[in-house]
Formats: sequence, C-alpha cells, structure tokens
Amino acid sequence: MIVIMKMNAGDEQVAAVQSYIENHGLQTHLSTGAERTIIGVIGDKTAITDGNILRLPGVERIMPVSRPFKLASRDFHPEDTIVNINGVQVGTEQLTVIAGPCSVENRDQLLTVAKAVKEAGAHMLRGGAFKPRTSPYSFQGLGEEGLKILAEAREETGLPIVTEVMSPEDLPVVEKYADVLQIGARNMQNYALLKAVGRSPKAVLLKRGLMSTIEELLMSAEYILANGNDRVMLCERGIRTFETYTRNTLDINAVPVLQELTHLPVLVDPSHATGKWSLVQAASMAGVAAGADGLIIEVHNQPEIAMSDGAQSLKPRRFDELMHQLARIATAVDRTL
Ligand code: PEP
Ligand code: MN
Repeated sequence: MIVIMKMNAGDEQVAAVQSYIENHGLQTHLSTGAERTIIGVIGDKTAITDGNILRLPGVERIMPVSRPFKLASRDFHPEDTIVNINGVQVGTEQLTVIAGPCSVENRDQLLTVAKAVKEAGAHMLRGGAFKPRTSPYSFQGLGEEGLKILAEAREETGLPIVTEVMSPEDLPVVEKYADVLQIGARNMQNYALLKAVGRSPKAVLLKRGLMSTIEELLMSAEYILANGNDRVMLCERGIRTFETYTRNTLDINAVPVLQELTHLPVLVDPSHATGKWSLVQAASMAGVAAGADGLIIEVHNQPEIAMSDGAQSLKPRRFDELMHQLARIATAVDRTL
C-alpha cells in the first residue's frame, strides 16, 4: 500500500508516519515528488490498521497496491526516474543512444567503431566481453582483455561503457571497468546475479528475457531495486513468437505498457529484436515513436566478418544515417536526440 501525504505535510510529519510503519516491522520507501510525498509500504500489512495511519498528522489517504512489484511501480514512485551515467541522463526528454559492436573482438575493431558512433552522436558505447552464446563452441568473448579495451575506448571518446555481466563471480572484474552492467535476456531470471548487481554501485541495464512477460521483467527489476540499487534501466529486445522470419518479435506494446507501469527508463534494442540489419532502422524509429527513452544498437565496421551478430549489425555509415532519421522522429514526439 502507499500512504499519500497532504500537499503541505512537513518533513517531521513524513518522518513520524515512516517511524510508525517501521515500528510495526514494515519497510518504507519514500518518493518526494514536486507536489507531495508518497510513502510506499512493503511487508505484512496485517501488522498495521488503516485507521491508525489515517489518524496521523499530514496523512491525506492510503491506497492499496495490488501489483507484485512495488519499488518498480509508478504507484510507489509517480515521477520518472532519471539514471545519471557519468553525466548522461537516461529518462529525460533527451533520448539516449547506446551503440557499438555485439562483442569486443580486438583493439582496432572497438576503437574504430567507438570513434564512429561517437562521431554520429551516440551517448554510450556497448560491447560484450563476456558473451552468452547459444553454442559452447562459439566465440565466448575476450573477458578481462575485452574490458580493458572498452576502458581504453572510454578514455579516447568519453563515452560511458555498457557491457554484460553473466555471473556473480564475474561481477568484481566487470564492475571495475563498466559504467553500466548489462543483464542479458538469458539471465533476466538469474536471481543470484540480480541480487549481486542490486548491491553494486554501478547502473544496470536489464534486458527482457526471450520468453518473459512484462510482469516478470518488472519482478526482476524489483530484485535489483530491493537490494539497494535504484539505477535500473529496462530494455525490450524482442520476444520469441511463432514468427521465424525475424530473430525475435519486437513487442512494441511493451514500451507504452512499461511507461505506464514503471518509473524506470525504457530502452529498445532493435538489433536483437529483428536479427537483420535492414530492419533495424524501422524498429528503431518505431521504438522512439512508441515512447522509448533510448535505443541500444549494434554497430560493426566489418559486419561480414563479425564474431557475433554480424547479420544484425549496422555499418557506421548506416548508423550515422539512422541518427539523422531518429532526430526527425524525436522532434515529432517532443524529444531531442
Ligand atoms: C547482446 O546485447 O549482445 C545480447 C546478447 O543481447 P540479449 O541478451 O538481449 O540477447
Ligand atoms: Mn549481440
């Protein structure tokens, strides 16, 4: 449930309500909006009675929250969360574009792509060093060597680094280099990993599982938030359907649904959603038109010889063209790029 304070409620009144709730063994979560304060209550509500809370000074009303996710829900936190990553603000009217190769393959490749995407106006650099591959015989990523190359690219371009972490054991090394910890689709319900990144000081990009519902995605976000990390961004990257022409099916509905249900920023990954570079432009534009806060796009200087996901990777020139098209869509939906 949430306790909605009166517009003119003072800090001491808010604190008194919080201690009343906490003294009954429940947890509180404060959301201080421009107009009023909302206190989210988490735990066994049979310990308190509505009437006693309503009698406390400054309380306007209380509202039950029946959704299973609390910290992630807009009920608890009506205003959009803005995640700040080294000065890049995700979740404002300014769109965020993350671009780079699927995998870090070598220094030349990464630095070439990093400079090109920076030039085209990308805000962050992506690149996997620990890769979740369907086959154990496929390229598994360069590991720490790849992370060092990413850090060098950050030095060169100033772009913050987004890179995947696949297990809690890898977290210390990934955390050392990354600005954003990516949780891949295959790990969306790896609860040990979610708890571990929930304790990390680094921001998290949580991708929707291949066969996960929107509610399951939000419950996974809840794990991260409940462990203390409030810098969470969500990513719709396509789900598995009966359609096989595309690698996945971009669930465009997920964008407005998530914007309705949660205050967390919502990104779209048009590359994994389609699996084909020729479809990335349309999927990107659709994502922005539907209200996404940003995009994560795979770009490779030589996609034909890429070690992973070449078929869906844009060449730098196409990425640059796409950025120009996106600027027009952004204007149409009152955003900037
Ligand atoms: C990736 O971003 O390269 C990736 C593996 O994505 P996903 O986890 O969405 O498949
Ligand atoms: Mn990929």
